[in-house]
Amino acid sequence: MTDTYAVIGNPISHTKSPFIHGSFAATTAQDLVYTAIEGPLDGFAVAADAFRAGGGLGLNITAPFKLDAFRYATDLTERARRAGAVNAMKFVGKRAYADNFDGVGLVRDITHNLGCALQGQRVLLLGAGGAARGALLPFLEQNPAQLVVANRTLATAQAMALGTAARVCGYGELVGQSFDIVVNATSASLRAELPPVPASVFAQARLAYELAYGKGLTPFLRLAQTAGVVLLADGVGMLAEQAAEAFAWWRGVRPDTAGVIAKLTVPLV
Ligand code: NDP
Repeated sequence: MTDTYAVIGNPISHTKSPFIHGSFAATTAQDLVYTAIEGPLDGFAVAADAFRAGGGLGLNITAPFKLDAFRYATDLTERARRAGAVNAMKFVGKRAYADNFDGVGLVRDITHNLGCALQGQRVLLLGAGGAARGALLPFLEQNPAQLVVANRTLATAQAMALGTAARVCGYGELVGQSFDIVVNATSASLRAELPPVPASVFAQARLAYELAYGKGLTPFLRLAQTAGVVLLADGVGMLAEQAAEAFAWWRGVRPDTAGVIAKLTVPLV
C-alpha cells in the first residue's frame, strides 16, 4: 500500500515540499504520496486528526502551525523542545512523535553544501524568531568560537539564549564588531527590508547566509556583497536539507539533495 505524507500550513499554495519529497521518493524508489493541506487557521488538531484517520504517516508543519504542532505532539525531541516549535511529525498508533529539522538543515547546508565549518568561527545570528530558535542548539553543537544573537527586541533574544553559551545584543552594539559567518534569520527580507545591521560585521566574513529563499539578492545579501563578502547563500539549501532529514526519519533512507537544490535555486542577482 502506498504510504501518505503531507505538509500542512495556511496559506500553502507556495509550498515546495510536495515537489521536494516527490523527487526524493522517485530517486530513492520509495512508494509514497506527499500532498499539501491547507489547515483551518484555528483547526490544526482537527486537520491532523483527520489526516491520521485517513492513514497518514507523517506531516511537515509550516507557518502558522509550528506552535500548534508543538502542543499536539505526544513525544518531543530535545531540539524541538528548545526551539518551542515543531516542523515534522511521525505518527505511530496513538503517538505523535515530533522534531524540528530547520536548524540541522541549516547547519548541514552551511557545513556540507557550502563547505564552511562553523567550528572555531565567530558566528552572528540575526533574529530570535522560530527559525533562529531552531538554529541555536545545532549551531552551538558545532562549537563555534563565538555565537552572538542580535535581535530588534532584546528580551526575545535573551529568553531564547537563556542557559546557553550564546551572547545576546542589540543591533547598536554590533558597530565595530566583525564575524566570520553572518546569518540572517530575521523575516525582514520577506518585505524587502534590511535588518539594521552595520556593514562592519561583514569586514572579515567569508559567508553571508539569508534564510529566506527564492528572492534573489535581498537587501541583506546586497549589503554583504557590497562589503566584500564573496560567498553568499539563500535558504534553498536549508529547505532541501531539513526535508531530507524528515524523509530519512520517516523512510530510513537519506536522499541526495543536489538535484532539488539545483531545480529550486533562484540566482542571487
Ligand atoms: P518569525 O516571525 O518567527 O521571526 C521574525 C524575526 O525577524 C524576529 O526576530 C523579528 O524581530 C525579526 N524581524 C522582522 N522584521 C525585522 C526587521 N525589519 N528588522 C530586524 N528584525 C526584524 O519568523 P521565522 O523565524 O519563522 O522566519 C524567519 C526567516 O526565516 C523568514 O525569512 C523565513 O522565510 C525564513 N525561513 C526559512 C526556512 C528555510 O527552510 N529556508 C525555514 C524557516 C524559516 P523582533 O523579535 O524584534 O520582532
